[in-house]
Amino acid sequence: MKSLTLKAPAKVNYRLDVLRRRPDGYHDLRMIMQRIDLCDEITITLSDTSGVRVTCGREGVPDGPENIAWRAANALLPLSGQEAGIDIAITKNIPVAAGLGGGSSDAATVLLGVNELLGLGLSIERLMEVGVTLGADVPFFVFGKTALAEGIGEVLTAIDAVPPLWLVIVNPNIPVSTAWVYQSLRLTGEWNGDTIPRFFKDVADVCAVLANDLESVTIGRYPVIGEIKERLVAAGAAGALMSGSGPTVFGLFAAEEEARGAAQSIASSSDWFVTAVRALV
Ligand code: ATP
Repeated sequence: MKSLTLKAPAKVNYRLDVLRRRPDGYHDLRMIMQRIDLCDEITITLSDTSGVRVTCGREGVPDGPENIAWRAANALLPLSGQEAGIDIAITKNIPVAAGLGGGSSDAATVLLGVNELLGLGLSIERLMEVGVTLGADVPFFVFGKTALAEGIGEVLTAIDAVPPLWLVIVNPNIPVSTAWVYQSLRLTGEWNGDTIPRFFKDVADVCAVLANDLESVTIGRYPVIGEIKERLVAAGAAGALMSGSGPTVFGLFAAEEEARGAAQSIASSSDWFVTAVRALV
């Protein structure tokens, strides 16, 4: 049987501005999104038995139709014109409900993989359109480059000038619901219309844009996030920020050895999930 094994990377937000609440309940956002080398592994296999099957086996991640990867495959299957079946096995390495976009990345990877396995010939733009019907971060992972993301996350502009950075990712093992964070957010006023740069020559340039409007909401409930930020800076990070709706925090480093040293020192004195990873370019 034809089969593909693909990596589905996590993301962090170097910037997350919430511009306004929309009448449809979504928020207009402005984000700088960066893929990182912390990946789920997804094996997609064509089958003679029609329909989609998803197995993951990780606590907190549903098998079957409630898995966003199932919905991704199911959205493309009717386009094949064949009685095809698809089996998907997910090896989960990305912390769940963590602000790292794991589910969205799994869905995007399934869109790309099923398009290839079934020979559908859909363009990246078309796959991004299907992706946004599954989740607001899915188009970014289909796009596959560091990006400025606007709208609800689906209007993407590539950012080519990014330095080769290292990140230390720290997750305190508390699942946080993205819906809860947005519901708890109190918007303070109209967006002031400022612009953010699209050219970053070094780690200091990236540190200059670090900001996340959701941080105060999640830190308000889980103060440990503030503590992790301080630990990262004390361990040598040039800057530290909560990613997405949290609770994961990342610290930025120019060099691999510094990042690995900081990760080791934080891991040895906590029971948090800690890893040093490369930013993907
Ligand atoms: P985002 O920042 O995009 O909201 P996240 O990293 O905070 O993402 P996910 O790990 O994507 O959150 O998971 C959110 C919820 O979605 C989980 O609680 C889980 O039950 C459900 N889910 C469905 N499919 C998946 C999947 N393939 N991987 C992870 N979670 C999934």
